[in-house]
Amino acid sequence: MSVNLKNVTFSYPDMPDKPIIAIETWSISKKEKVFLHGPSGGGKSTLLNLLSGILQPDTGEILVLNKNLGQMNNAERDKFRANYVGYIFQQFNLIPYLNAVENIQLANQFTKDTSKSFGQKDIKEILHTFRISDADSTAPTGKLSIGQQQRIAIIRAMINQPEILIADEPTSSLDEMNKNVFMSGLLEMISKQDTTLIFVSHDLSLAHNFDRIDALEEINSIRKCH
Ligand code: ADP
Ligand code: MG
Repeated sequence: MSVNLKNVTFSYPDMPDKPIIAIETWSISKKEKVFLHGPSGGGKSTLLNLLSGILQPDTGEILVLNKNLGQMNNAERDKFRANYVGYIFQQFNLIPYLNAVENIQLANQFTKDTSKSFGQKDIKEILHTFRISDADSTAPTGKLSIGQQQRIAIIRAMINQPEILIADEPTSSLDEMNKNVFMSGLLEMISKQDTTLIFVSHDLSLAHNFDRIDALEEINSIRKCH
């Protein structure tokens, strides 16, 4: 099992009377590709942060790769995340003044497994498959288009070959063409590496790429009442 939630509740510490998440059970199998959708403000990003151990639940258990996140201390959770979980956000994935190769190398240096350590030449080759030229690979990423930046973000998130990739509305700032290039590159890398994918989006036109489509309202018993 990749992810397993049991009786998880969560509210932000500054608003203890406003529960955001109450999930009795939710699980994701290894290699499964899950599309999660729901209204803005519904708690999708909060749930993803719980899954990656950035936030801790008030009650309940979160198992990721059969490890109970609640039984780890902060340092152990950070290490676990660095080794097993990749993340792609809607924006600000990259360090803008570093180039693509440097951004990817920066992520790659955290791997303990030397077989997963890539040199500049290898990284440039991967960048080519994502339609990033040598010239663009050595320019500050802040100067590249959003489409290019999001494709570089895929490589950055996947370079250490995580077991799970979490993507939080990664295509919402992309136009149709860039969205398609992003999705095909992402799905190819996922299938090559047998990664479990948890993908949040409100763009249901992407849903056909996934094994499972989950609505947050159906798994989370907290509903917005405004
Ligand atoms: P979604 O990703 O589905 O749009 P979020 O998980 O970002 O939803 O937010 C869920 C709810 O939690 C919203 O009402 C939001 O205002 C609130 N929220 C998000 N982050 C914080 C925070 N750091 N502190 C307090 N409330 C927050
Ligand atoms: Mg969100």
